[in-house]
Amino acid sequence: MTLKPLITPEDDRGFSIHTIPFGFGEAGGKQAAALSALGNQVVQLESLATHGFLPGFEEHIKMCSRYGGLNPMLQMGRHRLGELRSLLQDLLQTGSELDKDRTLLANITHPIDDTYLMLPVYIGDYTDFYASKYHAERVGAMFRGKEQALQPNWLHLPVGYHGRASSIVPSDRIINWPNGQMPGENGPKFGPSKKVDFELEFGCLTASGNLLGEPVSAEETGNMIAGFLLVNDWSARDIQAWEYVPLGPFTSKNFATSVSPWVIHPDALEPFKTEGPTPEVHLQSYLQQTGLTHYDIQLEVYLKPAGTDREVRICQTNTRHLYWSMEQMLAHQTVTGCNIRSGDLYASGTVSGPKPENGACLLELTENGQSPIALDGGKKRTFLESGDEVIMRGFAEKGEVRVEMGEVRGQIGE
Ligand code: MN
Repeated sequence: MTLKPLITPEDDRGFSIHTIPFGFGEAGGKQAAALSALGNQVVQLESLATHGFLPGFEEHIKMCSRYGGLNPMLQMGRHRLGELRSLLQDLLQTGSELDKDRTLLANITHPIDDTYLMLPVYIGDYTDFYASKYHAERVGAMFRGKEQALQPNWLHLPVGYHGRASSIVPSDRIINWPNGQMPGENGPKFGPSKKVDFELEFGCLTASGNLLGEPVSAEETGNMIAGFLLVNDWSARDIQAWEYVPLGPFTSKNFATSVSPWVIHPDALEPFKTEGPTPEVHLQSYLQQTGLTHYDIQLEVYLKPAGTDREVRICQTNTRHLYWSMEQMLAHQTVTGCNIRSGDLYASGTVSGPKPENGACLLELTENGQSPIALDGGKKRTFLESGDEVIMRGFAEKGEVRVEMGEVRGQIGE
């Protein structure tokens, strides 16, 4: 069935009627509130609710502006959030009740470019995984040699670490340059990192969770997912190399993590479900899954070098290259009884694929600084330089259905 949107996207960055994302921010001079988007316009959900177009959802939508994020909407659960999305999808098409009130439509829509988008939710906890085998193998080979590239646990569980929620920042903010300890010629030295990097990751926010002491298996954790977004896990590789033994990354990662503003509900991505890789070892039952476990979402990274206006694409990859599914990552998070809560962020780890151009961080793309990438005008990069801007985008496309993930951008400062 062909859907007929009230607003058509002006370009590839616009949201199709198949997306209907959720976000939070200030539009049209109103206080920050729950938003959706269609075309290149945001749609103010609170105003729509006030005018009686979203029966049954008013209270949760209005609570978002008081809360400072979409948390009250997420707490409705994945299923109710999907019903709200589907109601919006109907309203935003020709022939709907909203179509008949064009004055109201004009009042509740505003250009995305004039909207101040914030973190979509208040994030309580953040876990970062390491779910691409291509990434783990390449990075492992760099640090430990090809023979020991994958640690013995890697194929048996989704490796992860607890990240830092306090330094998660919205898209389009400046990131402070990290200083720290790193290896030097005569022992460790202190100073600005010389290897500031990005990591392109696929993330999810949770709508619901589990009780402390009650693990959830991979067959059930999908019900917890409120939606997906893009994550840039900024990294300082020289600091990381010195500090990561034996407990994993710490200050090399916790200085900033950028997230895209729009939460894409799993229903929107349902047509893009695809098979995951066949597990290479027998999995414990809590990690076993049947059916389509992965998504076919195309991801890209663009670099806008300091002092220039042109974005250069430096990476193309796909979420189907992940080895572990998001459901398996969530199941592993809970296996010992740890509780997931509504509004948590889980990120996949660097979404690298099999080819060199699928490397989703500079560490891989430049082989740890050994082979610089060529940019316009004779410019080169091994790692980031002050003033560089990193833009990550994602979309899924099949026939006439296109779903936008939106973008996460961030400029590394001084
Ligand atoms: Mn990461």
